[in-house]
Amino acid sequence: MLMYQKELQQLMEVNKMANFSKVSVKEDARTELHDQLGLTGAEVSVNNLPAGAGVPFVHSHKKNEEIYMILSGKGKAVIDGETVDLKAGDWVRISPAAKRQFSAAEDSPISYVCIQVRENSLEEYTAGDAVIG
Ligand code: ZN
Repeated sequence: MLMYQKELQQLMEVNKMANFSKVSVKEDARTELHDQLGLTGAEVSVNNLPAGAGVPFVHSHKKNEEIYMILSGKGKAVIDGETVDLKAGDWVRISPAAKRQFSAAEDSPISYVCIQVRENSLEEYTAGDAVIG
């Protein structure tokens, strides 16, 4: 394990010099990319819940909105008491204060990405922030 962490650190140092970072995500229950990729403006997690399983707590946020992308499977989110069915291809944006809890369907696992970003922080994007060439 120590060896792995040292290799990962060396890899990240090399990648920082190269102006990018890359990791491969295994099918762990949850992988947080903030530290692994050296993210500076967002946290991105990759989540896998087996059939019948759910995140065991309700949560909200102080400042960050969350964008969820369902990669595969089926499940639901209960957001401020409202049940939202989820399937592959669905995207959901949730305001910071909303109370949320995610779970897989009884007969299907679910895999999803959660992107946390500070609400109202985006100033320019796509063409407004791009430099061509
Ligand atoms: Zn959250």
